Amino acid sequence: MGTAPDPGYPFRSPGPHTRCLNGHSLDLAGQTLPYYHVLDLDATLCNLCTELRLDRPGWFPLDHTAVRRVDVPPKYHRPIVELVAHPPDQPAGVGYIALQISERSVADIDVQMCGIDRRGVIEQIRVDDTYRRRRIGTLLVAAVLARGPGFQWSTTKVDNSASARAFWASQHPAGSLSLGRPDYCPHMKIVNGEGL
Ligand SMILES: [Zn+2]
Ligand SMILES: [Zn+2]
Repeated sequence: MGTAPDPGYPFRSPGPHTRCLNGHSLDLAGQTLPYYHVLDLDATLCNLCTELRLDRPGWFPLDHTAVRRVDVPPKYHRPIVELVAHPPDQPAGVGYIALQISERSVADIDVQMCGIDRRGVIEQIRVDDTYRRRRIGTLLVAAVLARGPGFQWSTTKVDNSASARAFWASQHPAGSLSLGRPDYCPHMKIVNGEGL
């Protein structure tokens, strides 16, 4: 697989996962871990999905809690695929987390967070057309939620399309998530110029 192109598999938190993306028990199906040089990542492939030639036979494990601050250089070498946090200019302002591939941002999520009120508002998720259907939005939401454990989460207005509703319906926030009704704290309101 040394020079194989990016196979387009979804990204998924490292798990441990007991099932593949098509619902097979990995214990029974068996798995293979081919290395893809192009992304410098090992994929996890379900052997049964491969044998049946199913769509999305595998995924790339990517730790959604491993997010590098943009102003902190990588510890060792720079990974080809990495999550990079761009903190807001001021507390409770809008920051974002981007998924970078070969130093190019292919997706990002805007978020306002307040550690005093323990509140977070997810503002917008953007994924490049060529990287759609790879669960990157889900990974970005998980990355954001992991940064505010126990926070009360909400989102700005959610697109009413079936695909947008399906996206949000498949997220699994640990606590509550209020969809489409942003619950700004006083600090966010000041930053947003809304006063009190
Ligand atoms: Zn499978
Ligand atoms: Zn606040």
